[in-house]
Amino acid sequence: MTKLIFEKSKKGTEGINLTDETIDFSFINKKYLDDTTSSILPEVTELEVMRHYKELSDKNFCIEKGFYPLGSCTMKYNPKVNELLASLEGFTMLHPLQDDEDCQGALKLMYNLQLALKEITGMSAITLQPAAGAHGELCGMMIVKKYFESIGQKRKNVIIPDSAHGTNPASAAMCGFNIVEIKSNEKGMVDIEALKSALDDNTAAIMLTNPNTLGLFEENILEISELVHKAGGLLYYDGANMNAIMGHTNPKLMGFDIVHINLHKTFSTPHGGGGPGAGPVGTIDKLKDFLPVPVVEFDGNKYFRNYNLKNSIGKMKAFYGNFSVLIKAYAYILLMGNTLKDVSSNAVLNANYMMNKLKKHYLLPYNQKCMHEFVLSGEWQKEQGVNTLGIAKRLMDSNFHPPTVYFPLIVHEAIMIEPTESETKERLDEFINTMIEIADEIKSNPQQVLQHPINTPVKKVDETLAARHPDLAFKNCK
Ligand SMILES: *Cc1c(COP(=O)(O)O)cnc(C)c1O
Repeated sequence: MTKLIFEKSKKGTEGINLTDETIDFSFINKKYLDDTTSSILPEVTELEVMRHYKELSDKNFCIEKGFYPLGSCTMKYNPKVNELLASLEGFTMLHPLQDDEDCQGALKLMYNLQLALKEITGMSAITLQPAAGAHGELCGMMIVKKYFESIGQKRKNVIIPDSAHGTNPASAAMCGFNIVEIKSNEKGMVDIEALKSALDDNTAAIMLTNPNTLGLFEENILEISELVHKAGGLLYYDGANMNAIMGHTNPKLMGFDIVHINLHKTFSTPHGGGGPGAGPVGTIDKLKDFLPVPVVEFDGNKYFRNYNLKNSIGKMKAFYGNFSVLIKAYAYILLMGNTLKDVSSNAVLNANYMMNKLKKHYLLPYNQKCMHEFVLSGEWQKEQGVNTLGIAKRLMDSNFHPPTVYFPLIVHEAIMIEPTESETKERLDEFINTMIEIADEIKSNPQQVLQHPINTPVKKVDETLAARHPDLAFKNCK
């Protein structure tokens, strides 16, 4: 087992000499240089520090190490040139309080990114502030709330299908809305009759993901948007699945009023360790005055931050959002240009290819053409003695990150697979073959399968114990 860096510490060992007269350390506060403070820091050599962190990073699974078909998360290739551009000094050394005149380049980038996102979503105005998808949802629900206040209506209900991501009801609830859950129909889509009976003059909005979390495109989306609008409600689009539709259609054409986009998913920022991400929000024309301030605008001559929006909900984030993520998304969009449309075509093609190869071996509860992801059920395997968690753990020993499991909640033993566009056919086949092998192993020796993972840095863990008695503090480590 890897020791903690504190356990590797040996008194008197020096990595770097912070009191060295030949190096200018004047930028470090004196109090961090004195002995009493440094004694609480680990004392290791520079080489041992590097080894320590390399060893830790080797334990990690990442997209550079292998296939990462984590459904709904879009773990695609993030071009390295994005990082290079985001680390340009002109960006990294910029202070957020600098005057508009002194950061025209950065403002132009934000403005142009807004233009690109307007084009992709069909919306009229964009804020780049929210830090993630869930934060975008919160922003969107605050806009819904303030909009109805501004027209003097008290609408308290937000309708959400039972297939939705948990952040949807959480965001609406945080804004004080009541959640009205509607059941999906036998095709995995919004049940129109259930929707009709949920709609009334108390309906503020419906939150939808399209394609939904089953990877299915809502075939009645136009009827749905007409019904909601007729009842006086707004339509909120959870854009986590934007990777399926870019350039083919957009939320505006479907009738949505507010949209969030997860830049870290579709627009290639590495994610999975908790950020940073970005969840820009777009609105139709009649809601654009409600966006958080400032929005970046252009007067034909200069780019500037506009703080004067009549009905603005205020600020969602310190300054203007996670700027480095915005740079990466902009770089990616420029890099792809018109081929963003092919990204979605290929993501959808890859998912359908895998789904059709796997559906003989795993139950496919909604057997129809999918978009960029699909959801299998591990019920056949569970009957043979290995549940979906067991399948996920077994996959890790073949150098695959497990798919999303047990989500969406409406599929028992769900296995949600999103291959993305950036994988080769060979890699897809490798995963398919491994999944088939696992199904065969379960038939012949389920007990054996349940032993996995055995080759990973952390072996099979007792999940109950880990949840009930987490041992996270250094002082408790032996
Ligand atoms: C990822 C995801 C979210 C939340 O987005 P974050 O950026 O993780 O906050 C919301 N809805 C769906 C469908 C998602 O996949």
